[in-house]
Amino acid sequence: MIFRQLFDTSSSTYTYLLADAEHGQALLIDPVFSQAGRDLALISELGLKLTLVVDTHAHADHVTAAWLLKQKTGCRIASARVIGAEHVDLPLDDGQTFGVAGITLRAIATPGHTNGCMSYVLEDQSMVFTGDTLLIRGCGRSDFQQGSAKKLYHSLTQKLFRLPDACLVYPGHDYHGRTVSSIREEKAFNVRVGAQANQTDFIEFMHAMRLPHPKLIDEAVPANLRSGCPEDGRLPAVPDWADIRLNYGGVPEVDADWLHNHLDRVTVLDVRLNEEADDCSISSKLVDIHIPLDQLRERTADVPDDKPVVTLCRSGRRSALAVNILQEAGFDRVASLSHGLMGMSQA
Ligand code: FE
Repeated sequence: MIFRQLFDTSSSTYTYLLADAEHGQALLIDPVFSQAGRDLALISELGLKLTLVVDTHAHADHVTAAWLLKQKTGCRIASARVIGAEHVDLPLDDGQTFGVAGITLRAIATPGHTNGCMSYVLEDQSMVFTGDTLLIRGCGRSDFQQGSAKKLYHSLTQKLFRLPDACLVYPGHDYHGRTVSSIREEKAFNVRVGAQANQTDFIEFMHAMRLPHPKLIDEAVPANLRSGCPEDGRLPAVPDWADIRLNYGGVPEVDADWLHNHLDRVTVLDVRLNEEADDCSISSKLVDIHIPLDQLRERTADVPDDKPVVTLCRSGRRSALAVNILQEAGFDRVASLSHGLMGMSQA
């Protein structure tokens, strides 16, 4: 199984990518709207196809990328039927199994943080994705969104703690950099519900907490009831000057075919060494300006800014740093040639 744990620093949200290498279909749990480009870049670089996204609940602290990813890939959206969110293709009930080819999850209704919370356990019970129901040494709050400390206690102790002790716990958030726990650990050490805390211990703990109102709740919850579709139903703006692909390293790239067909619309900047540029027959036809990478910071004023800039080098590595340097100098329409001249000669 291919498994990746991804992190959104602004909301401390974990997004999980699961895929079966043989079938190549991927599913994402709890994708974040502003990270959709990152997630799609990783899926593409791993040679996978996104076919399903699933949320653990209607989040109050970030907007889901479910709708956006559906627009971009045609994937299906799953979430708890109880939530009743728009754009959902697969409403989930307690005990239902679902997934993608080679990956099967079982939905476990775990209400309490919200009424519509679900946890998702892998078929072999080796991993459970608990959303905000069970966090590492903690749990989600139960004081808004139809939350109930009593229901949360029941979900934690009668549903999640009945999974095998060795089952790994992957939470929806962590605010301290912790990434994974296990049912055994949480049963023993969870600060709120571990060590055989009874219902009174738990409810009194939860009621005595004074937590600030979540900053984004008033925007995030209504958006999440539309599976993250913006109010105007429009896709976020993308660069209009080229067919830009952001790679997982964060670099905007264009491919060789696009460059070949749009040479008149861009300035092509070669950042190789002088001697590399001198004995290269392809580049003489493409390149508008040549500035070796180690001189670029001092010479950004020599780069014309009337057209977008495509940087190139031998393999597309040095040209990626050239993009950073130009962006820092104020160029906003700039991209690196993916795979550099090696890709160009193949094309
Ligand atoms: Fe939450």
